[in-house]
Amino acid sequence: MAPMTGRSLRRLAVVAALPLIIAGLPLAAGADPEPDDEPVVPLGVEEDADLVEVVVDDQAGVIDLIAAGADVTEYARPVPGGLEVHVVATQAEQDELRALGFAVDGAVVTAEETDAVVAERDAAIERLDQISALATDTLTVLRSEWFTSIGGVTYLNIEVKSSTGADSSTVLTVSWDGGSRTMSRFVDAGQYLYHRFNEPIAVDDVPAEVTITSSMGGVTTAPVVEWLGEPRKGEGPHVATGFVDHYMDPTEVYQRIEELAAEFPQLAEIVDLPYQTNGYRRHAQALIGTVTSNAFYVTSHAWGHEGGNDLGLETRNPGVPDSPLTVTVENGTIVVSLATDSSGALISTAAQVVAAINASPAASALVSASTYRGNAGNGVTVADSEQLSDFLSAPESISREPFTMRAIRIGKDRDGSQTGVLAYSQEHAREWVTPLVAVETAERLLRNYRNDAATKMLVDDLDIFIIPSVNPDGGHYSFYDRGFQRRNMTNYCGPNLSDPNARNAWGVDINRNFSVGSRFDGYDGASGSCTSDVYSGPAELSEPEARNEVWLTERFENIEFAMNVHSYGGYFMWPPGAYIDDGRVTLPHATIGEENYFWASSSHILSAVQDWRGTAVWPGRTGPVADVLYSAAGNSADEHWYNRGIYGWDFEVGADLWDPEEGDWDAVGFQPPFAEGFEEAMEFSHGLVGLLEVARAYGNDVKPPTTTLVLTDEGVTFDASEPVSIHYTLDGSRPTYASPMVSSAGLREGAAAIPLESGTTTVHWFSVDAAGNVESMYNPNGNGNNYRKQVVTVD
Ligand SMILES: [Zn+2]
Repeated sequence: MAPMTGRSLRRLAVVAALPLIIAGLPLAAGADPEPDDEPVVPLGVEEDADLVEVVVDDQAGVIDLIAAGADVTEYARPVPGGLEVHVVATQAEQDELRALGFAVDGAVVTAEETDAVVAERDAAIERLDQISALATDTLTVLRSEWFTSIGGVTYLNIEVKSSTGADSSTVLTVSWDGGSRTMSRFVDAGQYLYHRFNEPIAVDDVPAEVTITSSMGGVTTAPVVEWLGEPRKGEGPHVATGFVDHYMDPTEVYQRIEELAAEFPQLAEIVDLPYQTNGYRRHAQALIGTVTSNAFYVTSHAWGHEGGNDLGLETRNPGVPDSPLTVTVENGTIVVSLATDSSGALISTAAQVVAAINASPAASALVSASTYRGNAGNGVTVADSEQLSDFLSAPESISREPFTMRAIRIGKDRDGSQTGVLAYSQEHAREWVTPLVAVETAERLLRNYRNDAATKMLVDDLDIFIIPSVNPDGGHYSFYDRGFQRRNMTNYCGPNLSDPNARNAWGVDINRNFSVGSRFDGYDGASGSCTSDVYSGPAELSEPEARNEVWLTERFENIEFAMNVHSYGGYFMWPPGAYIDDGRVTLPHATIGEENYFWASSSHILSAVQDWRGTAVWPGRTGPVADVLYSAAGNSADEHWYNRGIYGWDFEVGADLWDPEEGDWDAVGFQPPFAEGFEEAMEFSHGLVGLLEVARAYGNDVKPPTTTLVLTDEGVTFDASEPVSIHYTLDGSRPTYASPMVSSAGLREGAAAIPLESGTTTVHWFSVDAAGNVESMYNPNGNGNNYRKQVVTVD
């Protein structure tokens, strides 16, 4: 701790040389009346002081304190029993005051806290010096939008990047006709990203523009544009919705898709996924003991439902002195007869009992035993009797066998010729609304096919795969045993964490078990601890649930779009979803053309969500996972995008709800009352249909894009008829896919201009849209020269 040089508080002991004889002050034994033995100035004079409470009887007591040499502040307030005053005193001084009979209480402000304030002030001064050395900052407006959401309330969302934003004293204020608001700095993994509002700001009227002012001197204005609200052609008026009426466990959602496929054999079929899960099952266990040192537990070799639950465990007091420790098995009960001493007292330790059970051929054929949480087990085992149990509470109708996951495949032509779309729900068990989104969407497609032209077009032109629950075992556990279960049920913990009291802490996070940007690759946001809720598993793709997703996208190469349905919060995100913490190095961002395509598609999909009951997913919760939320190493959207080029999105259904009475936002949680869960399922099923519309447009897109070259002060930019990637050359050569691309100016910014040298430059380029159509039907791999050309001159 830094000494408080130059700020030394008045030293009690210096003054203390004089007092001690103050009339009426009790002299405690510790107060040495022979000052010769005491140093005049105590050692450690730089010792830091605390601000502490002292309670005295009255004002006269304050005088006594001062007379005793205490540094009494001006603060005083009446408390039961007298007057509370605050005294600045080192630890030694506090002891001395106590010895003098003063009631010295807890610290109001500790020396550590004072040091922190000093350090903060020093840093502030340093920063102010830096600021004065800095020129005005440049402000880049990333997003400036208004939208209406559920209930018709209108909101503003603004995001601005300051060139000095890395400095925490950069304060941005947004003002508009009718209001103003200070923004917060969005900092993640130590890196400044941009300034934003923590949540959208409710406004009465939409301003035409906003002005952003920086404490660093920068100022800029931006028009406010509408977010979402895109008029939707969508389904016709007779479309039927609302096919779910209660939360469904995985057994029921899988039954439902099988019934649907059987009912609509021309339009649908079931695809069995090859890797069975471990199943909703556990080995049976029993724990005996009262404290850690005398506790031990046994685990059956058989699954609970296959005999483990029928076993018993008894630690028996033989009732006679000098008895040996023995283990027998009697009618399915492991009987441990505990050893006794000459007085008949029990003397077997937990470690001895564990060793005896494991050494007994009869007992070890049924169970294995361990001490508790790795304890040495030196405590004496108590007599007790327990039935083994797998502690699973689901009714018998829930199978305990390995689960075969399935996808329902919907489409008129299911031969791989149509654009494929994959939707998958409930990677996380507790997210109960997400399987409803899956089932509702499947039913809408099949039941409206005959009567609704828009639905028919989707089913005719697409090949749709829907997995209603990627985590059926964990899902069952969430429904019947522990609502907050997130992971699957597979236990990778060793004996030290495998006792029955740890059973809610096991499992692998499926959405951290994939092979791209994983924990094993050094990415952030997954854990190697078997009890962490973001446990990555022991290896990439160790879990059958994850392998099934990969299998499906590899088996059906026509899948080009995917939606990973999660809850809650109202997010809409895409890759990259992970970064390496040191330096916040993300997986590669999509090209500017792909990124623009993600945004354009998102606008359509989120307008579809909004169409149901007005819910607007916030622009601040839309974007690459790594830009708006956090790093999630080894997630499935990254797997599908980077390994197979599938446009992979994540829904977090369940957007915050505006509370008009409180004027704030309320989070909905994982398992809202069904009435709310139903609304979420409906609106995000709308969104999933929106994705199908995007995919159909992609599959039918044969129209080449067109672009126009624009010369700006910064260089060359392009206007395009749709989201495109642009390859260009400046040296007169023929542009190919290997030529440089127009790139992003930065996170959440648009395209960067291509800087030009002064003089005349020949720009050759071509654009290519998301579906692969090339401008002017140019073939970059051929020999033609029908690329775009323009000569530009810069003075
Ligand atoms: Zn989730």
